[in-house]
Amino acid sequence: MRDTASVLHLDLDAFFAAVEQRDKPSLRGKPVVVGGTGGRGVVATASYEARRFGVRSAMSTREARSRCPHAAFLSGRFPAYRAASELVMAELRAVSPLVEPLSLDEAFVDLAAAGLPDLTLPTVTEVAQRLRARVAEVTGGLTASVGLASSKFVAKVASELDKPDGLTVVPPGTEQELLRPMPARVIPGVGPQTTERLRRAGVHTVADLEALSLDELVRLLGKAHGHGLHAFARAQDDRPVVAEREAKSVSVEGTYDTDLTDRRLMEGLLTRQAGEVATRLRAHGLSGRTVTIKVRLHDFTTLSRSSTLPSPTDAAGVVARTARTLLADLDTSGGVRLLGVGVSGLADWVQEDLFADDAALGDEAADEVAPVDLEAAFPRRRTWPPGADVVHEEHGRGWVWGSGRGVVTVRFETAASPSGPVRSFAEDDPALQRWTSTEPDPGEVTTQPLSSPT
Ligand SMILES: [Mg+2]
Repeated sequence: MRDTASVLHLDLDAFFAAVEQRDKPSLRGKPVVVGGTGGRGVVATASYEARRFGVRSAMSTREARSRCPHAAFLSGRFPAYRAASELVMAELRAVSPLVEPLSLDEAFVDLAAAGLPDLTLPTVTEVAQRLRARVAEVTGGLTASVGLASSKFVAKVASELDKPDGLTVVPPGTEQELLRPMPARVIPGVGPQTTERLRRAGVHTVADLEALSLDELVRLLGKAHGHGLHAFARAQDDRPVVAEREAKSVSVEGTYDTDLTDRRLMEGLLTRQAGEVATRLRAHGLSGRTVTIKVRLHDFTTLSRSSTLPSPTDAAGVVARTARTLLADLDTSGGVRLLGVGVSGLADWVQEDLFADDAALGDEAADEVAPVDLEAAFPRRRTWPPGADVVHEEHGRGWVWGSGRGVVTVRFETAASPSGPVRSFAEDDPALQRWTSTEPDPGEVTTQPLSSPT
């Protein structure tokens, strides 16, 4: 814990929903729910208007529909969210080189590394206010809530206190006063299970937790967890802000309009991507030891899993087999929107002798998976997910308001236009097209570096 409030935590407010309201003027001030719109869909983000009806993140879309039937249910536009996120992160990095993103809409910034004349409360407060204004400016009006405190833990707690569009500064020395009345679950690592265990021991608040001795906590929760909670309960947190380092890797990923649920298809896609990664590795004379898969779930949670091999490889079969093993451990039953394979820990040499075997194994492994019929999996028939961007030859840009029974209904408006008119078209009307800035077509493969887990 520092003696200055120099750790800043910034969290964009209702991020996905806010981007949708920015780009869809007719939805401003209205309940908007972004997430899986299918039968097993889950809410990723609800706008504040929808939250008033009790709609929450991670709730099933079915439940959300019953609580707020008049909300706009949108399937989400990840490229738009990523673009907004990149603008925000660039603003943070302009303030300090030490920026630690936690997800697309959340990051820590270390103001002690910002080269400020001093770290007094008026100085850091002014930096935070200016940053919030810049975020709104560069993103076209998105709001962020900010917490300033002497540690990551308290800064993150603080950014929640005045949401949305708020700033909370916790003066050094007042942390415990702030935390004591709060429920114990504000502490990092206190999830539902720990909360329940603590509740049974009569611990409800941070103050209750603070009253327990280290021995009692260790007996209750084990050594590592007990020590951690003992410190957090006293607002002690020395975790540094760690800037994201760019890992060198070769990777291939694809995004899909329709959530993938078929395991065999996912394995087939990973196998094909592994083949492309291996081709690129060989083309550059590279090999790597760490195989990573990236999986974005229907609710935009992005998972990445890695496995490090005993020696570097550039063999398609080895990469594919490792990738499929990594996939096997993930729960993808709710559907998958993005799959990717990467190889990192790159070396510019291959141990030829070790590799003879691996390559042989690799070819075998590649045969284990029956080839998938990608054409059948991603028919050329166009899909019209709710909220997707479209363009019409005559009417211009708009978004899919709804579709079904061969008809697509579009609202013609953009971030810069007033609320626009609604028109319907035949699903196969050639004058109507999906509009994409960076989003690839369904099933199309893009190459880009794997980002770290968010
Ligand atoms: Mg947020």
